[in-house]
Amino acid sequence: MCGIVGYIGRREAYPIIINGLKRLEYRGYDSAGIVLSTPKGFELVKTKGKVSDLEEKSTSIDQTPTIGIGHTRWATHGVPNDVNSHPHLSNNGRIVLVHNGIIENYESIKKLLIEKGYTFQSDTDTEVLVNFIQLFQEEQNLNLRDAVRLALNEVVGAYAIAVLDNQDPDTIVVARLGSPLAIGIGKDEFFIASDASPFIEFTKDAIYLEDGDMASIRLGEEVAIHTIHNNEPVSLDIQELQLNIEAIEKGGYEHFMLKEIYEQPRSIRDTMRGRLLVDEGIIKMAGIWDNQERFLKAKRIIIVACGTSYHAGLVAEYMIEDFARIPVEVEYASEFRYRNPIIKKNDVVIAISQSGETADTLAALKLAKEKGAFIFGINNVVGSSIARITDAGAYTHAGPEIGVASTKAFTAQLTILSLIALKLGKKNGELSNEKYNLLTRELDRIPELVEKILIDCEGKIEAIAEKYKDNRNAIYLGRGYNYPSALEGALKLKEISYIHAEGYPAAEMKHGPIALLDENMPVIVIATKRGYYEKVVSNIQEIKSRSARIIAVVNEGDEQVIAMADDHIFIPETAEEFTPILAAIPLQLLSYWIAVKLGKNVDQPRNLAKSVTVE
Ligand code: GLU
Repeated sequence: MCGIVGYIGRREAYPIIINGLKRLEYRGYDSAGIVLSTPKGFELVKTKGKVSDLEEKSTSIDQTPTIGIGHTRWATHGVPNDVNSHPHLSNNGRIVLVHNGIIENYESIKKLLIEKGYTFQSDTDTEVLVNFIQLFQEEQNLNLRDAVRLALNEVVGAYAIAVLDNQDPDTIVVARLGSPLAIGIGKDEFFIASDASPFIEFTKDAIYLEDGDMASIRLGEEVAIHTIHNNEPVSLDIQELQLNIEAIEKGGYEHFMLKEIYEQPRSIRDTMRGRLLVDEGIIKMAGIWDNQERFLKAKRIIIVACGTSYHAGLVAEYMIEDFARIPVEVEYASEFRYRNPIIKKNDVVIAISQSGETADTLAALKLAKEKGAFIFGINNVVGSSIARITDAGAYTHAGPEIGVASTKAFTAQLTILSLIALKLGKKNGELSNEKYNLLTRELDRIPELVEKILIDCEGKIEAIAEKYKDNRNAIYLGRGYNYPSALEGALKLKEISYIHAEGYPAAEMKHGPIALLDENMPVIVIATKRGYYEKVVSNIQEIKSRSARIIAVVNEGDEQVIAMADDHIFIPETAEEFTPILAAIPLQLLSYWIAVKLGKNVDQPRNLAKSVTVE
């Protein structure tokens, strides 16, 4: 994961890199480091901890140079400590490098380098790479770009790197394979970053480096891009960024996560905007429309995803099968890619990923593409790797999500998947016009209902969180469409409060988990009116008789469940298919408030990172 930032221009690089790293901390925050290039050599400082720790330590260096690179780490090789932090220096002190990704064959390269007399300070794969570049540079007397290129041709794995050479202090060399890298193009200055957020206030022009490409960036010259494999020139594709600075700031909220929870009426609306024309009864989605033959002839749809996106995929399975009667399978991308799956030419593979960079999902898609399936991406980040390799796709338009635990991206995914399922059902005639019209009208109301939940829940969920925050375990239950809601609710709690939580289909309780129930095991049940209500009521009764405390998410006006529950949260009634969108809101807030009350770092939970660009 990791965030990379670089600058070359006429301003001081230090503040640009530090602020940029802060914006990329969602990608990892185990350690941070910066190196500035001066005519006299490198000014380097790095430390375990956050970018703010790096700032404290940076008083020792000259902060005036105008070229530099920085890094915020999510450790894969070696514990988070000062020595394993990036940037990493080569043995001769000439080359310095920051890296996002994993060098899979680092052990064999390290062995070779040790035989040649190289020594290593850290446990990282990255330090191996920087020394490997030194080896090529010295043995073949190469400039930095060529040495980097030859070294990378021997590397197996994934990387986005930025490299400096103190013998050529006006150049930054960057390269990518598997991990993202954007180059911002200003007037007399260039920016480098894992995503465009670090340079959005400086320029709207950016190049997203393609997989397998590298660039040499020199002041006063045009960026020169070549393929890593055979050094062929690549033409520049400069894109105009749509991002704005307000979208990546907290806007008065205590945490990004809370801001993003509260943004959901708008983000869901943005996802539907221009797509759901409710009065005309039309759903406009070019990615589906232009490829309707592929979808309608599909023998099967396979959804691949990880984490929260996987839960959105489970809801989509129910919806697509119900509305369009097309068989759907949902798979963890990490399992799918390694288990020799059966993929046929007439399959459609849908990948769901907020960042569009999730390494396992990307690899699963590549596999599906090789086997001839039609591949479709659902991402939030425009221009992401998944968006670029897919045959077609749909952006969720939720806006930048900075909190590591996904909230608005999840509800935006559910929204877009609802649109897709409705469109397919309408198109192939499996969904009656009457039901289609009813459901599209209902979907159109969802932002308003989410708004209502946010207003009604004000203060209430915080009070419930106070009551339950000291429990060390929790169970989440739901049935039908709300079984994935239970999984997602449990994941949110685990992620940010570090409380152990499990989600189950409510009826599965009696096949094992019921043994866990006692007064210390709160059970959060989603018991909305239209989804097997009576069955869930019986499940609640079973729980009640085992003395567990119950927090019920119910529809307004419910009396039966409220009477049994210790606490309840109301959500408005809607079509069963869309209740996961509504149920997500109180469950997000419950996790948020529990984590806040426990004093946890809500936006940057331990061990996690947002954009999972490693396997
Ligand atoms: N493998 C490198 C390290 O452990 C980079 C990790 C990453 O990209 O998250 O330091």
